[in-house]
Amino acid sequence: MDTTYDVIISGAGPVGLFLACELASAECSVLVLEQAEDPHSPLKQMPFGLRGLSAPTIAAFERRGLLDQLETSKRVKQAGSHVASAQAGHFAGLPFFYGDIDSAGWPSPASLLSEMAETEAVLTRRALSLGVEIVRGVAVSGVEQDAHGVLVQAGERAFASRWLVGCDGARSVVRKAGGFEFAGTEPEFTGYTMQVDIADAERLQPGRVMTPAGMYVQSQPGYFAVQDFDGGAFHQTGQPVTLAQAQAVLRRISQTEVTITALHAATTWSDRARQVTSYRNGRILLAGDAAHIHSPLGGQGLNLGIGDAVDLGWKLAVTLRGDAPEGLLDTYHAERHPIGAQVLDWSRAQVAIMRPTPEARALRAIFGDLLKTRDGATYIAGRVWGIAAKD
Ligand SMILES: Cc1cc2nc3c(=O)[nH]c(=O)nc-3n(C[C@H](O)[C@H](O)[C@H](O)COP(=O)(O)OP(=O)(O)OC[C@H]3O[C@@H](n4cnc5c(N)ncnc54)[C@H](O)[C@@H]3O)c2cc1C
Repeated sequence: MDTTYDVIISGAGPVGLFLACELASAECSVLVLEQAEDPHSPLKQMPFGLRGLSAPTIAAFERRGLLDQLETSKRVKQAGSHVASAQAGHFAGLPFFYGDIDSAGWPSPASLLSEMAETEAVLTRRALSLGVEIVRGVAVSGVEQDAHGVLVQAGERAFASRWLVGCDGARSVVRKAGGFEFAGTEPEFTGYTMQVDIADAERLQPGRVMTPAGMYVQSQPGYFAVQDFDGGAFHQTGQPVTLAQAQAVLRRISQTEVTITALHAATTWSDRARQVTSYRNGRILLAGDAAHIHSPLGGQGLNLGIGDAVDLGWKLAVTLRGDAPEGLLDTYHAERHPIGAQVLDWSRAQVAIMRPTPEARALRAIFGDLLKTRDGATYIAGRVWGIAAKD
């Protein structure tokens, strides 16, 4: 351990990489520790790796000259975004359409589709070109801090830095080892993302289907997202999804006796909604999913995390340079915590009207009508695309 870095970042996901670029472009020395040996995963590729980017995220990539490198947005044009009748997005599974949105005065494009694998590859290239050290296959296992710096433990190895930022995702070790309080609400469902072969696929409708038991989406033949209101029980077990489990869930939610013949890829997620009560504890900070988790409904998590990185990057760089006014770094929590709290509530509101209950179905019908109005569609699109943050 000969080097003391300005900043160690735990996690080379999109948020950790974006932050690394921000810091390195301000001439900070940055080490990124990433537990995965291999950055590739089918879950980061199309269609599972598809992520909607909101207007502030698009602007952040554009400012850094990276937007043109996101080729996915050119290949997968938002299906017919120029056609008024094309779907622009959804709220709780209820579609809203381009033709209903009053986007006068909004940035263009206000949203883009991206692929996780490509976004990470673009950010990795930029980080390396700026001199960031990225070490893969090293999982952070513990942290210790004093008034001058942080000692980061990764198994038998130790690394020293002046600051540590945990960007290590929803199950963040930095959050746990760093003594952060993680407050919020427990899940109502387990979400499944899976790629399967089905013997009798024609029995299931394509697209998003609400049933009395939950919801499933078949985005392409064999590619499913399923929402099972089991109180989040299966996701919490941490068990891998087996073919038998995938089939049982798909049958129960679709209420169709389909037969899965092969399971190619699967993962689970939930609507557990939690946020750290402070984004900073001494010399340790958190950003991205490490700081806040919620269901992916409405596609907000990546955008929220990039917003954290944009806000934190320059503040930490100025602090390291010694030019920061008193309290500058604490404005990171003050500014980002309320925005994170809004996103958690946004996802909770969607879950509330997706429950398989008569009350939720009644409320969903009213929301569906509101989304067909110009004001309704404009309000929801503005919130989803980060244009009209709630006062
Ligand atoms: C199905 C689905 C759809 C989604 N759609 C959208 C969308 O359309 N728009 C949107 O904005 N968001 C979306 N999200 C959310 C988005 O993917 C996440 O919010 C985003 O990936 C968070 O980025 P991150 O860098 O904070 O964390 P992650 O992407 O989780 O990256 C964390 C990194 O840290 C590494 N790591 C973990 N533990 C350690 C450790 N101990 N030591 C070192 N490294 C470690 C991990 O290997 C990983 O590389 C979706 C999520 C899901 C599940």
